[in-house]
Amino acid sequence: MPESIQQQILEDQPRLGLDTRFTFRCGPDRECFNRCCADVTILLSPYDVLRLKKALHMDSSEFLEKHTLVARSRERQVPVVLLRMTEETRQCPFVGQAGCSVYPHRPWACRMYPLGMAEPKEPDAAAQRFYFLVTETICQGHRGPDQHSIREWITEQEIEAFDQMQGPFLALLAHPGWDSPESTTAAKLDMYLTALYDLDRFRRFVFESRFLELFEVEESRIQAIAEDDEELLEFAIDWLAFSLFHEKTMRLRKPASASQPASGISAPTEQPGGEYAQS
Ligand code: SF4
Ligand code: SF4
Repeated sequence: MPESIQQQILEDQPRLGLDTRFTFRCGPDRECFNRCCADVTILLSPYDVLRLKKALHMDSSEFLEKHTLVARSRERQVPVVLLRMTEETRQCPFVGQAGCSVYPHRPWACRMYPLGMAEPKEPDAAAQRFYFLVTETICQGHRGPDQHSIREWITEQEIEAFDQMQGPFLALLAHPGWDSPESTTAAKLDMYLTALYDLDRFRRFVFESRFLELFEVEESRIQAIAEDDEELLEFAIDWLAFSLFHEKTMRLRKPASASQPASGISAPTEQPGGEYAQS
C-alpha cells in the first residue's frame, strides 16, 4: 500500500476491533457481482503466490511471469508483487461468470474485503493492529442484511491460516535492518524477490548450488523443504534474515577462514540456481 494512503488510513479511518459488527453480503444475485474483480490493485504476499501457483499447478516462475507485476516501494525500493489484470478487459485473470475461479485459494486481500487492516508503527499502547471498513459506491454488499463481527469474518474467510504464514514475512518487512544501504543492494533485493516469491526456483538454488555444503541444515528440514512449499517459505525467510540482516537464523557448516569471515557471507552474486558466493 502506498505510504500516503497508509498514512491517510491511520489518520482518518475509524479503528474497528474484533468485536465490532458490520453489515455485508456478497453473492451472484448482486448487480455488482464480479465488478470489484477488475481494475483493482491487489498486493500479493509470498503465501498468496504459493497458494495460487499450487492451485493452478504452475511453476512459480511461470506464475510470476504470467500473472504478476513487480513494483518497488518508494522508500527502500523493496520489491512488491501485484496481481496483473488482463490487458484487454483490465479484469482479474481468475474471474469468470460464476465468480472467482480460485476461490478456495484467493489472496488475503480478496478474503478480507470489505475490511482492511492496519498496524501503526508507533510503539505506544494505543498503537495496535486495527481494522477498517472499505465502502465503495460500486459495492452493494453493504446493504446487508447479513451481520458479522470482524472476528467472525476472519474465521469465515479462513484468514487465520494466511495470517499465521504471513507473520514471519511481515516481521522481515518491518526489520530495522532495512535502514542500512547494505541490505538494499540490487543483488540482495533480487534475492529477496526470488527466495520469497519464486519458490520453485529458490528450491533449485538450494539443492543445485553449494548452499547445503556451506550451511548446516538438519536432515529432517532438508527433506521438508524438498517437498513442502510452506516449509520452504519459512526456510527462505530464515535465509533472508541471515543474508540481509545478519540474524543468527542459519548456521555455517564450516568455520570461516580468516580471509572469508562469516559476517561477510551475503546474497549470492549470481541468480539462484547459479553458484553461491561469499563476499
Ligand atoms: S462489489 Fe461488493 S457485493 Fe458486489 S461482488 Fe464485489 S464484493 Fe460482492
Ligand atoms: S482472485 Fe478471485 S476474488 Fe480476487 S480479484 Fe481475482 S477473481 Fe476476484
